[in-house]
Amino acid sequence: MTHSDLLNIAQNAPGPSYVYDASKIKHQYNRLENAFSGVKKLKINYACKALSNISVLKFLKSLGSGLDTVSHQEVLLGLEAGFTPENIIFTPNGVSLEEIETVAKMGVQINIDSLSILEQFGTKYPKIPVCIRINPHVMAGGNSNISVGHIDSKFGISIHQIPHVLRIVENTKMHINGVHMHTGSDILDIEVFLHASEILFSTALQFKDLSFVDFGSGFKVPYREGDIETNIEELGEKLTKRFKEFCKTYGRTLELAFEPGKFLVSEAGYFLSKVNAVKQTTSTVFAQIDSGFNHLIRPMLYNSFHQIINLTNPEGRERFYTVVGYICETDTFGSNRKIAEISEGDVLAFKNAGAYCMTMASNYNSRYRPAEYLWYQGEAHLIRKQETFEDLMQNQILIDFKEKVEA
Ligand SMILES: *Cc1c(COP(=O)(O)O)cnc(C)c1O
Repeated sequence: MTHSDLLNIAQNAPGPSYVYDASKIKHQYNRLENAFSGVKKLKINYACKALSNISVLKFLKSLGSGLDTVSHQEVLLGLEAGFTPENIIFTPNGVSLEEIETVAKMGVQINIDSLSILEQFGTKYPKIPVCIRINPHVMAGGNSNISVGHIDSKFGISIHQIPHVLRIVENTKMHINGVHMHTGSDILDIEVFLHASEILFSTALQFKDLSFVDFGSGFKVPYREGDIETNIEELGEKLTKRFKEFCKTYGRTLELAFEPGKFLVSEAGYFLSKVNAVKQTTSTVFAQIDSGFNHLIRPMLYNSFHQIINLTNPEGRERFYTVVGYICETDTFGSNRKIAEISEGDVLAFKNAGAYCMTMASNYNSRYRPAEYLWYQGEAHLIRKQETFEDLMQNQILIDFKEKVEA
């Protein structure tokens, strides 16, 4: 997919839109598979909260992926996309016992992340095998919004509570078939990941009847030039070696599972929007686009960097711009960015817009959520229409007010 393909899509789209390059998703999937080709039983469960369009789910299924879900609704989407319940894992945090029961009864693999829920579930359903999510207390990266394995994190069962887990298992006679960790999205250092893995291995040894060990995700992809990314090939080599040793100690070959979101889809995505106005103030040149944090919130929410390019004038002289939106609040996509000269009507592309972009879009300011396209085999396929006014009205109910109106 070239920049002129993207420009072509933008020019025919009804408004701001997302485009995903299927071949990039496939490339990342194969990279992960190849990095762990030495593992006998490898399972990749795509974390669909990153990008949950049903055609994208179907595409990942066609590559052989399973699905990692965090809500009952994501499970329903997965089933709709053709995943069988056995190929879906449910890894929620802080959901009700009822929701876990509902999903468990569908035949989906449950992953439990609190002692209280584990005890209640085990008491009611000792025959349904469950995986436990542990918190290895490893600080991964510096951003506590996306780093979820540290000591004060709300995620997982503390490794210091494993004796309590074992007591619950003994009392309820429940079956633990997997152990899991997910340390967050910012693994910069493979040694840190391997250190956390050691904790997962020693936890695993305390459960005699496991089928899998799930290492979650945390693979970092580059967002800007010079960014550190997880060296997946090096991790594959080191973890494969260690996993094989572990299986020997354990006495059986277990499945090694991952659940990447960002790694698989982030770089495949582009967000496209036209420029409504170029506004020069005393200190800044603003490029004001036909969008806002209703469509792409990561820059405002996480201070994330998304590279911005001018598709209409790629060879233009580079100038500095602050790219903002149309929301009636401060909504800065990027400050002081060097971008090829922008004129009103030009189309800008935001890179790394595959993960946690469309799935976080809203209707704020009563705007429509954008269309989505999948670039597959040299063609743009519309995979979600832009919303319409009917969509905004759909669940609203108009009350018939009986106030007296003064004549
Ligand atoms: C969000 C999430 C993932 C995916 O994380 P990425 O950083 O997008 O790879 C994996 N596992 C669980 C349990 C998650 O909640």
